Order: sequence, then C-alpha cells, then structure tokens
Amino acid sequence: MCNTVILSTKGETTIRSCINCKVFYLWHNNLLLTFTDKAFSAFYDVVEALSFHKNCLPFPDDEDRVILHTPNDDICFAFKVEEFELFKEAMTEALYMNSVYILMRV
Ligand SMILES: [Zn+2]
Repeated sequence: MCNTVILSTKGETTIRSCINCKVFYLWHNNLLLTFTDKAFSAFYDVVEALSFHKNCLPFPDDEDRVILHTPNDDICFAFKVEEFELFKEAMTEALYMNSVYILMRV
C-alpha cells in the first residue's frame, strides 16, 4: 500500500495521492476512482468545462442534477448544484496541494 497524502476533503469527496507513484485516489461517497497524474489533469479539464446550468437534467425526485462521466464511460456521477461545486473545489485544491507536495519534496 502506498504512502498517500490527503490533498483535499470537501463534502463527500476526499482526494489523496501518492507522490512517488503519481497516482491520485478520488473517493466520493463510496465510489473510489484511481487516476494517473495525466488522467487526473484531463478529468479536471472536463469537470471545469462542464456547465451545471447548461447540462442539468430533472431527476425523478424533482432535483436537477448534472451527469459527469468518469474516465470509465459506464460510470457517471449525478451531482446536485452544490455537490458539483464542492466536487470542483476539491479537485482544484487537490491539484494545488499536489504541486505544493512536489515542490516540498525537491
Ligand atoms: Zn505509491
């Protein structure tokens, strides 16, 4: 098991990484996704480009949610607006903290 550090915790999302292996672990609720550093950056670009208000859909409980495909195309998140904002904040903070940890290691 890697020696991971916590990069960010917001709402249901916790993001950790192993600096040595350059692997990111994105834990949301009870779903755990793993990414290489390149894949994590690419996923971040997708998340940042996704507009909640242009893409949200009504769900059966009358709440609007946006669907976010993970790199495994069969697996999607469905976020309410506030959940999506927290998820984006967690990813932004994780990338920032990861760059800090990389600098500290040098
Ligand atoms: Zn590792």
